Amino acid sequence: MPRLIADRPVLTMTSELGKVMAAAKAREAAGERILHLERGEPDFDTPPHVVEALAAAARAGETHYPDPRGTLPLRLALVEKLARDNGIACEPDDVVVTLGGTHALFCAFQALLGTGDELLVLSPHWMAIPKLVAYCVGSSYRTMGAYLEILEGRWTPADFAAQLRAALRPATRGIYLNSPNNPTGAVLSREFLVALAEVAIERDLWVVSDEAYEHILFDGARHVSIASLPGMAARTIGTYTYSKSYAMTGWRVGYVVSPPELRAVMGPILSFYTTHGVFPSVQSAARAATTGPQDLVELMRRSYQERRDLLLQGLAGQTAVRVPVPQGAFYAFPDVSAARGGRDIWTLVEDWLAMGVAVLPGTAFGPEYGDRVRLSLATRREDIVEAARRIQDRVATVAPR
Ligand code: PMP
Repeated sequence: MPRLIADRPVLTMTSELGKVMAAAKAREAAGERILHLERGEPDFDTPPHVVEALAAAARAGETHYPDPRGTLPLRLALVEKLARDNGIACEPDDVVVTLGGTHALFCAFQALLGTGDELLVLSPHWMAIPKLVAYCVGSSYRTMGAYLEILEGRWTPADFAAQLRAALRPATRGIYLNSPNNPTGAVLSREFLVALAEVAIERDLWVVSDEAYEHILFDGARHVSIASLPGMAARTIGTYTYSKSYAMTGWRVGYVVSPPELRAVMGPILSFYTTHGVFPSVQSAARAATTGPQDLVELMRRSYQERRDLLLQGLAGQTAVRVPVPQGAFYAFPDVSAARGGRDIWTLVEDWLAMGVAVLPGTAFGPEYGDRVRLSLATRREDIVEAARRIQDRVATVAPR
C-alpha cells in the first residue's frame, strides 16, 4: 500500500457523534427502536418557496461558475439583513457566501491563525472547532469554560471579563464565541458581550462570532451580534448559516462577514481556492429564504421551545439529571454526575443507548465535560417525551429521588 499522504493529527481525529450514531444504527439494524437525541439536525422540511426558487433559478440557467464571493443579489440582500437584524453596517464586498457555517468558520480561522497563534475557545464548544483549528498549520487553541457559568448564573459580566483576562496569553490572536451556544443553549446578553468586547479591544484581539443559531431563542431572549457593539465591527468575523434557521442543512450555504481589511483574502483567496464559490441557484434560493416570508422560521422556533418545555417537564421531580434551562439553540446539556455515579461517561451513554435513548457524551464538547451529556431537541416531540420517561425510569433505579 502506498504510504499515507499525510499523518497530521487532524486527519486521524475521531468523531464521538460518529461513534454514537454507528452504535445506534447497529441497534436499529437489529430491530431495536432508538430515540435520536444525539443529532443536531432540524427535522423540518426546507420552506417550499425556497425549494421553488432553486428550481426556477436552475431552469433560468444559473448554473455557471459563481463569483467566489457570492452572487451580488444575495450579498445585497444579506447587507440589508445584517443592518436590520444584526446591527452590522457593511458593504457587499465584506460578505462572502460559503458552503455553510462550517466553511465560513474554516475561512475565518484560516484568515486569522498562523504559526504560533492561539485561539481562545469559549467552552463547551461545538465539536468541529478543534478540527477546524487543526487545519491552520502551526496554530493551536486553548479552552475556557464560560457558557455554563453564565447560563447557571454563577458569573457576572465582570467575572467573565476577569476570567478572560486571566486566560489570555501573548500568543492569543482571537476568541471563538458561539451564542446561542451549542451545546448548552446559553445566550449571552448584551452585558456579557460588552464585557467580552472590552477585553478584546484592550488586548487587540479578533473575535470569531459563530451565530449559527441566531434565530432560535426562547422566552423572549434577544440575540445580540458582538460586531454591533462599538469598536467591534473592525475586529469581528461573523459566521452565519441557513442550516438551522431555515432547516437547510443539506443545501450547504452560509456566509462570513468580515471587516474591509480582509476583502482581498476572504473571497479571492479563501473562498476561491477552497470551493470556488457556491452553486448560484442555491444562492438564489438562499436569497428567497432571507427576503421571503419568515413564518416558518418562527414556527420552528416555537416548536423547539415547546420541545424544550416537554423535556424539562419530563425530567422534573428527579435530581440525577440536572438541566440548566436552555435559552436558545436546540440542545440541553444536563449534569448527569449523579446518574453516572462512579462510571465513565461512555458507560452511561451506552447504558442509555441500551434503553433506546441516543445522546452525546459531554466530552465531545471538551474533555472537561465528562459529567454532562447533550440532548438534542431536533427530534419529534413524542420522542422527547418518551426519552424523558425512559431516563426518569432509569435514574429512579440508579439514584435516589
Ligand atoms: N456552528 C455551530 C455551533 C453548529 O452547531 C453548526 C452545525 N452543527 C455549525 C456552526 C455549522 O453548520 P453548517 O455547516 O451546517 O452551516
